[in-house]
Amino acid sequence: MKNLLKNVIIFLIVFLAIAGLLSTFRLNSEKVEKINLQKFVEQIDKEEIKDIVVEGEKLNIALTNGALETLQKEPSETLGELLKNYNVSPEKIKKINIEIKGATGWSYWLNSLLPFLIPLIFVVIIIYYMMRQVQGANSKAMMFGQSSARDSSKNQREKITFKDVAGIKEAKEELQEVVEFLKNPKKFTILGAKIPKGVLLMGSPGTGKTLLARAVAGEAGVPFFSISASEFVEMFVGVGAARVRDLFQKAQKNAPCIIFIDELDAIGRQRGAGLGGSHDEREQTLNQILVEMDGFDPNLGVIVLAATNRPDVLDPALLRPGRFDRRVTIDRPDMKDREEILKIHARNKPMGSNVDLKKIAQHTPGFSGADLANLLNEAAILTARRNKTKVGNDEIRESVEKVMMGPERKSHILSEKERKITAYHEAAHALVSHELPEADPVHKISIISRGQAAGYTLKLPLEDKHFHSRSEFIADLAVLLAGHTVEKEIFGEVTTGASSDLKHATRLVKSLISEYGMSEKMGARTFGEREEMIFLGKEIREQRDYSEKTAEAIDEEISHLLSEAVKTAREIIRRKKSKMETIVKMLLEKETIEKEEFEEIFTTSKT
Ligand code: ADP
Ligand code: MG
Ligand code: ZN
Repeated sequence: MKNLLKNVIIFLIVFLAIAGLLSTFRLNSEKVEKINLQKFVEQIDKEEIKDIVVEGEKLNIALTNGALETLQKEPSETLGELLKNYNVSPEKIKKINIEIKGATGWSYWLNSLLPFLIPLIFVVIIIYYMMRQVQGANSKAMMFGQSSARDSSKNQREKITFKDVAGIKEAKEELQEVVEFLKNPKKFTILGAKIPKGVLLMGSPGTGKTLLARAVAGEAGVPFFSISASEFVEMFVGVGAARVRDLFQKAQKNAPCIIFIDELDAIGRQRGAGLGGSHDEREQTLNQILVEMDGFDPNLGVIVLAATNRPDVLDPALLRPGRFDRRVTIDRPDMKDREEILKIHARNKPMGSNVDLKKIAQHTPGFSGADLANLLNEAAILTARRNKTKVGNDEIRESVEKVMMGPERKSHILSEKERKITAYHEAAHALVSHELPEADPVHKISIISRGQAAGYTLKLPLEDKHFHSRSEFIADLAVLLAGHTVEKEIFGEVTTGASSDLKHATRLVKSLISEYGMSEKMGARTFGEREEMIFLGKEIREQRDYSEKTAEAIDEEISHLLSEAVKTAREIIRRKKSKMETIVKMLLEKETIEKEEFEEIFTTSKT
């Protein structure tokens, strides 16, 4: 619409310009006097005319005194007839120089036709443009059913191979097979082996699923149609299904090739779950995918890759053999893999000589590949801001904390009282953490605001953990509640600064009882069934599968475990008061305490 308006305005301007030009042209020609027949005959009689040029119906007359005139004659009459009719004497005519030009002088035609022609051309052009625009809209409407899957294999510039994916060895091995099949299908089919139709990549966000899929295409060098599952979902029922059909048709024409459906859970959710009508379209689309996956010949060479971070919500029909029967789980990277990932992302960044990627990998448990990539990027930005040429250890250290807890807010100035409370709060976390052997060692304490928190205590496990034991959780609880406890002990009342600690602690106790069966009193069972409901967006509903009496008992047990944790924390705080005061003093002085300094407090003096 905007385009149309622009075109119309441009045409109007052009039109006006031409009209203007034309009118000045006209004005010029009007300096020549137009005369009538009577005058013309009179002038001939008076022998005032020197010569005449006949141009069709127009006579251009030059007088002896130099003036110019024009005369329009009737089209049917020639000049000779005209003069005869007016009884002009032939002698007088002989004295005039008469010249006859081609009857259709271009200027004559131009003059007479342009005024009609220009508006006509104008109108035609406008109509043409309008038609084109309408047609464009039309053809877009007709393309509804076509998938917007992109064949990204031709994009050589960002070709990704397995070399760009660190760690996840098993996943790469599994996919290596897929690559080999795509390169040389005969090798497999000759042995009667059926090629997997679908491979599902599962893993938490940022673990490199999308990256891996692109690497497969890069390795195999085959067309790669990638589409996000959410692109199937449209306003109109049936469009998604049509797109799926189109996508598979395209793929079959281009076999061997890869279809990659990212974020499969957007359509692959269990059918029949959820309220309202919005899932109708999703179900149809999903059904179409199921049908298409069954439909094509397994040895054709079309392999469907899909990625999801919610395998638990996928429809079981998707997972049965013959569809996504291969499932590749991508775990969060362990220490070794983290180092590899860091190496890959450090390739294009100049690193200072003091940077030890292994150490960074040790200090970043739980980081995903995306977190690590982000970490090095932040470090590079920080380095540039400091006008350094190489990314140093300091920049990386700061970035780790930034990625973990949000940016520092140095401008967030605390009052003297608030600083003191924060110092005690964090000192207590650190102290209790240090005193309980099951808790993770303290890595850093700070009373500089970061993200939402006024201060923070960073604890890192010595190694990657896959399991957590009850005693660890109990210790964590005491550490979490230490801040709350110390505020009460020292200042007599609690501030809002401890609220998020309380929330975390309560949630932890709940899972401890109802998910992990770690409460002795409640026994080895789970309480409540989590069920995902889709209604006006996303919602997780918990279904109670226990009696009112049990609910009461659970509440009691929650309170009991929490108060036990407070007791533990209080005991440590009281016993090690002098140590805590030392930490507080240090914090108020220098705002942050690093691991080494912190441990020194406990080795130098005795309590
Ligand atoms: P997701 O699993 O959510 O699809 P992506 O594949 O989009 O995650 O990964 C996001 C980014 O994280 C990648 O572009 C890459 O830079 C980085 N990354 C994740 N995993 C790895 C890995 N194993 N090796 C190298 N880079 C990785
Ligand atoms: Mg992804
Ligand atoms: Zn706290």
